[in-house]
Amino acid sequence: MASPALLMRVVASAYSVAEKAATIVRNVMAAGDLGIVEKTGANDLQTKADRLVQMSICASLARKFPKATIIGEELVIWVDPLDGTKEYTEGLLDHVTVLIGIAYGGKAIAGVINQPYYNYEAGPDAVLGRTIWGVLGIGAFGFQLTEAPAGKHIIITTRSHSSSLVNDCISALNPDSVIRVGGAGNKIIQLIEGKASAYVFASPGCKKWDTCAPEAILHAVGGKITDIHGNSFQYNKEVKHMNSAGVLATLRNYDYYASRIPNTVKQSLVP
Ligand code: AMP
Ligand code: MG
Ligand code: MG
Repeated sequence: MASPALLMRVVASAYSVAEKAATIVRNVMAAGDLGIVEKTGANDLQTKADRLVQMSICASLARKFPKATIIGEELVIWVDPLDGTKEYTEGLLDHVTVLIGIAYGGKAIAGVINQPYYNYEAGPDAVLGRTIWGVLGIGAFGFQLTEAPAGKHIIITTRSHSSSLVNDCISALNPDSVIRVGGAGNKIIQLIEGKASAYVFASPGCKKWDTCAPEAILHAVGGKITDIHGNSFQYNKEVKHMNSAGVLATLRNYDYYASRIPNTVKQSLVP
């Protein structure tokens, strides 16, 4: 077992470095030059904020925990410096999060999600930004756990990485409504705040650093996240980064959604 004292020191550090990261995210936007580059293709963007936050988080954690991102043998920290970069470049600021996930023995056990622009439309007096964190077996904090409307199937999915497979899968679930927003972190927040009943993404594209922190927080409050086949994610350091068989996550009623994913969709997504 990971030493509880070490785990809590890492969580506390992740909390404070995520707040520093949020300041960088806001400062880059305020300065007006996002320095956007395309990474692997369309809609896979990187900005100056992604680069600066990555450096800042990695340098801070490496200083505090000298074996860099790998501590001891099995504690691995997965960092997404800026999740929802596409939305960041388009001014959809509350979609953006900074994600720091902590895995032990290949399992997501703790996570921090900072939302730098939480409340940004609430007026000048509102406190901007928040930090949500959670530890498996302890709970999750920094938000109000809320159930989604009973009996409704509200699906939340990608805004900028849709495909016919993504849409076919959603249609098969007979949704009452579909919410399309950016960011894996943002979508998990919507689940735990009762805005949506299932996060469904039948496509490769999402990475381990997108799901580690959200997974720990969702699991800490009794939710479930898997790929579209129902396989749980592994977070050991050797694991493939890509979640190539998509994402299915819920706070409640996981089995309802899992049992309705069409076989044709499953066959198209190889883990
Ligand atoms: P989204 O729901 O589209 O915001 O995606 C959640 C996370 O997965 C973000 O970090 C995206 O950058 C990443 N992602 C999803 N699909 C793709 C894709 N087709 N190409 C690159 N990144 C993707
Ligand atoms: Mg991301
Ligand atoms: Mg990112």
